[in-house]
Parts: sequence; structure tokens; C-alpha cells
Amino acid sequence: MGKVMDVYINGGFRQSAATETIPVTNPATQEVLVEAPYTTMEEINEAVAAARTAFLAWRRVPAPERARMLMKYQMLLKEKQDDIARVLSQETGKTFADAQGDVWRGIEVVEQACNVPAMMMGETSENVARNIDTYSIIQPLGVCVGITPFNFPAMIPLWMFPLAIACGNTFVLKPSEQDPMTPNMLIELFYQCGFPKDLVQLVHGGREQVDALLTHPDTRAISFVGSVNVGQHVYRTGTQHLKRVQCMTGAKNHMVVMPDANKDQVVNALIGSSVGAAGQRCMAISVAVFVGEAAAMIEDVRAAMAEVRPGAWDDSEAGYGPQISPAARERILGYIEKGKQEGATCLLDGSDVSVEGYPDGNWVGPTLFSDVKTDMSIYTDEIFGPVLVAVKEDTLDDAIATINANPYGNGTSIFTSSGGAARKFQSEIEVGQVGINVPIPVPLPFFSFTGWKNSFYGDQHAYGKQAIRFYTETKTITARWFDADAVASANMTIALK
Ligand code: NAD
Repeated sequence: MGKVMDVYINGGFRQSAATETIPVTNPATQEVLVEAPYTTMEEINEAVAAARTAFLAWRRVPAPERARMLMKYQMLLKEKQDDIARVLSQETGKTFADAQGDVWRGIEVVEQACNVPAMMMGETSENVARNIDTYSIIQPLGVCVGITPFNFPAMIPLWMFPLAIACGNTFVLKPSEQDPMTPNMLIELFYQCGFPKDLVQLVHGGREQVDALLTHPDTRAISFVGSVNVGQHVYRTGTQHLKRVQCMTGAKNHMVVMPDANKDQVVNALIGSSVGAAGQRCMAISVAVFVGEAAAMIEDVRAAMAEVRPGAWDDSEAGYGPQISPAARERILGYIEKGKQEGATCLLDGSDVSVEGYPDGNWVGPTLFSDVKTDMSIYTDEIFGPVLVAVKEDTLDDAIATINANPYGNGTSIFTSSGGAARKFQSEIEVGQVGINVPIPVPLPFFSFTGWKNSFYGDQHAYGKQAIRFYTETKTITARWFDADAVASANMTIALK
């Protein structure tokens, strides 16, 4: 067994007592970078207990002090962002520019968390009855848990623990076992900012470790990001154990192309949003819906897509990197094969792509299908690779009906020059995050992440400013005050006697 990475449990980084580990590999080369331990159940319990003890002191630290520490963290992350992006590129295979974006989007959430004193203000109402005022205060919950996926190992942990900590909670983070080096670095930097020990515990592992956190009596809130099946399991198990749970899950995102859309914009947007990041984005566009004569643009999309090639992280000409694992690559190749068997037309086939100097990488080339029907598996399933499927519809109403019938509802977009079409789309579409001439409409963190249907289970207050609602309780206080005049006159009467 090679070098095993540390966990952070009860006071500091240390080696886990785990006997089982999982190799973390570079997806472009298969080189084993490190081993991640399957944290033992005793260690999970120790982590939650340490977080619980730390909470009792941390909740008393004034919100402006917590914010000042987070400002330090934000500055340190900015200073080290390229170092983090280099580690991230190694374990995910992402191109350096893509890795930098992953880190930056996380830093933006830390910036938002620095605003915590204003976000944790309650409300007051004077004289709800004679001499009675009611007011509310916002308080932290306790030990919160984050379970994160492989595809954004910086951004997604940073969606969670800085906001939870800002609110006065403590946190146990269980990142993806496929790329845990970046989260370790984020937590190392966190403790360099002078935060008290034990605010964030870092454990590694898979299902067993997640289940232990979901069922532990001292964990209060669970944030999960990952696939639909696992998200459903986390939601069911967490709520069954009476936790507050939010699960951001899988997707099949459609982009509608109207005949009046600008062709160059459509082509650029479709290429970047479908094959960019190797299609490993929950907000990737995986279905292009061409309305009426817009179908003439499919050939332009094919020609532009054929120019894009995957490559290694430091290849500045590469459009994107490898898939995360050989298993992920095999799964995608299986879908490409199925698409052909099911009768779709494969206009561009990325199954056989190779990258010079990297014969062992998990490469899949850009792939485009047309004549796709909505009962084909390349349409119904989240492929999570650089595969775009094209569907044709006669009218905008038909396109909206198709999208609304899809069980996912994470993101969607429309490209058009008609204000009327755009407004109809934004109003009638049953999807949580809508782009108008914007292909990947991920909101900045002063909004929430608002997937619908099978893309989101639980509390909608996810990720941004509104996540303060997820990570806190509201306490409402009603107080009767003595009437000042009545008290004064009573005193006077007594004095005169
Ligand atoms: P995944 O569901 O396999 O893993 C997510 C986390 O769950 C990991 O930490 C993993 O260790 C853990 N896990 C895996 N199997 C488990 C099980 N049986 N029981 C309990 N925990 C388990 O997801 P992934 O492959 O790492 O990430 C890709 C998925 O995440 C895609 O479906 C993508 O759409 C989704 N995603 C969604 C969003 C969003 O905001 N909606 C963002 C990013 C990724």
C-alpha cells in the first residue's frame, strides 16, 4: 500500500486506523497518487463527538468575529488558488483553466459567508398586543454534515462548510473518495487561519461512512451533492432519522434552440456546455432541442464539435480532460453503443479517441447524436460524459412539453431573439434554473441553487445566502414589558403615602 492520506479528527490531522483504502489515481495516466482510507466507525464517532464539543464554544463566538476569520480564509484561498488548482488537476484530470474555475466558484461562496452578521439578523414587531413585543433570533443547529461528489472537489465542499461554520455550527465533511486531495488541502488552509480546533472534521470513505453520519444521533443537518440514486438513499435515510436534509442530485439539461437564435452563439454555447469539463457537470447541457428550421444548425454544431479534442491538464489547447475513472469511461462508451443500437444517428463518435503521450487516460471524444427519441436510453439517462443528443420539435410549445415531461429539473436554457418566446419559456418551464441566451445558468451564491423534480430533494435553501436558513434555527420570543407610566405612577403613590 502506498502513502495513505490523513483524516482530520478530534484535534488534528492524523493517519486513520483503517485497514481498507482506495487508490486515488490520475485519470490521464492511472498513476496512483495516494490512498484514501475508509475511516473506521470508532473514528466517525470520535469526529462527531469532537465536533459536538467544539460547537458548544464556537456558537458563543460573536458573528462578526466568525466573519473576520472567514475573511482571512477567503484571502488565503485566493493566495493559494493556483496551488489548489494544480492538485485538483492531478486528481480529476481537469484542464488547468477548468480547475481554476472550480476553485474560484468556491471562493465566491466563502465571500458570501463573510456577510454572516447581516444574514443572521432576526425580525422584531412592536406591540403585537398591549405592552408585548415579539422578535426572532437566528441560532446555529449543531453538528452539520457534508457529503460531496467527485466533479467539483473544491467548489462543492466550499458550498457547505464555510456557510455552516459562519452560522456558528461545526461540520463533518465526507468528500468523494475519487478525489479527496483537494478537500484535504482546503481543510489544511482552513486551520492555518486561526480557527479553533475541531470546527471541521474530515473523514474519508464511502457508503458505510455516509450511513454512519446519516444515522448518528448527534448530527443535525445533512447537505448532499451527487447522483440521483445515492441522493434518494441519503434523503430517505437522513429524514427517517429525523435530520434536516438537502440533496442536490443528477440532471438531464435541455437547451432549446429557436429558429431566430444567433447561430454562432448557439454553436459556441452548445459546445462549451455539452463537452466542456468532459460533460461531468450537473448543469451540463446534454440535450439540444431544435425547434422547426433551427434543425439546420445541427450540421454547424457537428462541425464545431469535431474540432474539440480532450487532453492533459497542462495542454492549453485541450478542450477538456479525461473522465474521472476507467469505469466512468466504460459506462459512457456503453451508452454510445446503445444509442446506435436504439436507432439514433451518430453524427460524431468519440469512442475511439486517443491522446498522444497518454495511452492509458480515460478519454472520450466529443459525441453527437441526432434523430433521438425520448424513450431512448441516451435521452432518458444522465450519461455524465461529452455526449450531446439532438431532439427535433415543431413548436416552442412542443419543446416545453418535452422538457416538462422529463423527470429531471436542474437547469435549462433557451436561445432566441424573441422576448415573447423567452418570457413564455421562463414562465412555463418546470425546471429550477433557467438561462435565456445563457447555456449554464448557475446562480451566484447570493441566490440559492434551485433544482426541481428529481434533481433536488429536501430543503431548497441550498448553497448561497439562503443556505443560512438551512444551517440555522429561528427562535421567536414574545415579551411583556411593564408599562413605564403605570410603574412610575405606582411608585409615586407609594412615595406619597
Ligand atoms: P455519487 O452519488 O456516486 O457520490 C456522491 C457522494 O456519495 C460521494 O461522497 C460518495 O462517496 C457517496 N456515496 C456513493 N455511493 C454511496 C452510497 N451507496 N451510499 C452513501 N453514499 C454514497 O456521485 P458522483 O459520481 O461523485 O458525482 C456525480 C453526480 O453528482 C452526477 O449525478 C451529478 O449530476 C451530480 N451532481 C449534482 C450537482 C447538483 O448541484 N445538483 C452538482 C454536482 C454533481
